[in-house]
Amino acid sequence: MKFRFCGRSGVQMPVVSLGLWHNFGDVDDFKVATDIVVSAFDQGICHFDLANNYGPAPGSAETNFGRILRNELASHRDEMLITSKAGHEMWQGVYGDGSSRKNLMASINQSLKRTGLEYFDIFYSHRYDGVTPVEETMQALIDIVRQGKALYVGISKYPLDLQQRCYDILREAKVPCLVSQYRYSMYDRKVEGGALKCAADNGSGVVAFSPLAQGLLTDRYLNGIPEHSRAARETGFLQKGQVSEERVAASIKLNEIAKKRGQSLAQMALAWILKDERMTSVIIGASSVEQLNNNIKCIDNLDFSAEELSQIEDILKDPVLSF
Ligand code: NDP
Repeated sequence: MKFRFCGRSGVQMPVVSLGLWHNFGDVDDFKVATDIVVSAFDQGICHFDLANNYGPAPGSAETNFGRILRNELASHRDEMLITSKAGHEMWQGVYGDGSSRKNLMASINQSLKRTGLEYFDIFYSHRYDGVTPVEETMQALIDIVRQGKALYVGISKYPLDLQQRCYDILREAKVPCLVSQYRYSMYDRKVEGGALKCAADNGSGVVAFSPLAQGLLTDRYLNGIPEHSRAARETGFLQKGQVSEERVAASIKLNEIAKKRGQSLAQMALAWILKDERMTSVIIGASSVEQLNNNIKCIDNLDFSAEELSQIEDILKDPVLSF
């Protein structure tokens, strides 16, 4: 594994991290979930990304991860960076959703209980909810650190016009924002419009979620929508309609470039993000150990020639590809 420092901090992250949004809920196979986590850890993926609502059922990914830790990796806690988040709908009633202090404080207590952890390494505000003043949300994050429930804090998906204010509040309280999490892939490059620069200027690390566009930037959909794939599953967030003809055609062309580089399409898509040194890590998902093993190998070639980059840009220039 390769590691990068997370922004201007002393903590390093593996350039490939594992996310538990899909494939680790109660609807999934616990043995497969265990094998993925253990295999990831054995290969240096020591950063695991959770959120209160991951499942389904919501909360079950945290519960299952806690079981895996206790069963398989109990003596390795200090070798891991474990994160969680709060901000999306989680329980009934007005306090179970959003970015209020009430939601964040209750949520971290629930997440600690579900995972059986004493603390999270990083706790995120999962989103700006459009209403709660960022002062309130950031103060909740600061207090979570002061209470010893998390070591560091992060923000996820914050709009550009609020991002700087978050960094300022956290910095003034001497709880700097360790990491900012944004969706970033060849098919979603909005972060290049300012968020990445803002994070880097403020010393925050940046991690990319859904770097494979939920599977579209792999060989998964090159020949239709396979049974059991995320787009085929009722509980999957990738809609069949998002597996569009245009995206499949573009992925086929990208796959040709990947082959010439001696990489799978997934490996090239991850390397393409990591070529930018401001990116701390890509948070991948995987439904099998095979996928995980394939993706990890992206680190063998993170460099692109000018010609490769220009060929890729040429394919990506069609606006219908973007989410
Ligand atoms: P990806 O874009 O990496 O998609 C993962 C999916 O792609 C897998 O489940 C699998 O789908 C398919 N796949 C992965 N590798 C391969 C391969 N080598 N060959 C073929 N198919 C492959 O990431 P996710 O969308 O899963 O997101 C990753 C993490 O990011 C989440 O778990 C979560 O931690 C975080 N996240 C954060 C959000 C936020 O709001 N902050 C929002 C969303 C995600 P299949 O099931 O079809 O096999």
